[in-house]
Amino acid sequence: MIKSIGYAAQDATAPLKPLEFDRQEPTGDEVQIDILYCGVCHSDVHQVRNEWHNTVYPCLPGHEIVGRVVKVGENVTKFKPGDLAGVGCMVDSCEHCQPCKGGEEQYCEGEKGWTATYNGPQVPDGTNTYGGYSNTIVVQENFVLKMPENLDIRAIAPLLCAGVTTYSPMRHWGVKPGDKVGIVGFGGLGDMAVKLAKAIGASVVGFTTSLEKADDIRKSGADEVVISTDKEAMAKYASSFDFMLSTIPTKHDVNPYIKLLKRDKTIVLVGALEPLEPIDHSQVAFHRRSIAGSLIGSIAETQEVLDFCAEHGIVSDVEVIPIQKINQAFEQMLAGEVKYRFVIDMESLKQTI
Ligand code: NDP
Repeated sequence: MIKSIGYAAQDATAPLKPLEFDRQEPTGDEVQIDILYCGVCHSDVHQVRNEWHNTVYPCLPGHEIVGRVVKVGENVTKFKPGDLAGVGCMVDSCEHCQPCKGGEEQYCEGEKGWTATYNGPQVPDGTNTYGGYSNTIVVQENFVLKMPENLDIRAIAPLLCAGVTTYSPMRHWGVKPGDKVGIVGFGGLGDMAVKLAKAIGASVVGFTTSLEKADDIRKSGADEVVISTDKEAMAKYASSFDFMLSTIPTKHDVNPYIKLLKRDKTIVLVGALEPLEPIDHSQVAFHRRSIAGSLIGSIAETQEVLDFCAEHGIVSDVEVIPIQKINQAFEQMLAGEVKYRFVIDMESLKQTI
């Protein structure tokens, strides 16, 4: 057993606190990674606070994990001690269903679906998985990513969730150079989405509720910025987009954005995983528009977006924090007071041990 430590919540209203626990030694095809940095995703707040009604406690979050391989099982071929490695949102899947065989494990149709990096549960014994707000993790090599060595190591962790969650739908819906793309909400996902859409060659418009973010949205690559609460500004963009991606994290009114799509085009909602305000379906039907959703991305797509970012020099805008500030960081993220992803420096955990 590996004596491990992390920060976990004991129930939906409790703050994260240090938790000592054991991880299994790596055997077979498993890789042990000592964690250097872990991004703080808005999903971590949803899960810690049981907002998706499936949290098992203790809940130890973190699915944007970057670290160094320290030990490998006897069958591991892709990694060796010293390698820079990453773990994203998944650590296992059934491997037998049609989505798994087709390389889309995030849509695993096996009995238990894919195993999340935290709040699993772990297959087959059903115990919970603990994520990246910890000092070390053991994961089978097929779910470990090769991290780019040429980028700021602190700023690549968010590529593992925010990056692939926004890249995957852009690839699936075929966003191409010259397309006009709208990105709604400028937080951790929105920042990555703007950068990725720009690098794909799209003309990018950022939609925000926060006037003070306009300069940063342009710096990330947006050609134009629209304040989404300004009805006149919104009206100017009617029927003009080839693709839109919304990262708004709560129940909201999608209708103002649907009107901005060209005929036959799609808005993909990745943020709100809950019921929305009623849709005015006439705006959908009269223009044969589509409203769609998308879930994270496959392991292959995660490696693809990491390689794409290495090639284009793309990283997340991050604020590095010690783990002792995690509860404050949750509140700041909810208040929109982060530019634009908190990343935990896991060296700080040593002060807790
Ligand atoms: P952040 O909190 O970093 O960013 C969300 C942004 O949305 C805010 O910065 C704000 O941008 C905007 N926003 C927030 N509240 C509202 C509101 N009520 N109305 C309109 N705009 C709002 O979150 P993340 O980017 O980390 O995550 C976004 C969502 O995506 C979360 O719900 C997360 O759980 C989900 N998610 C989904 C995944 C999937 O697979 N589908 C994977 C990962 C995350 P601005 O100030 O610019 O308006």
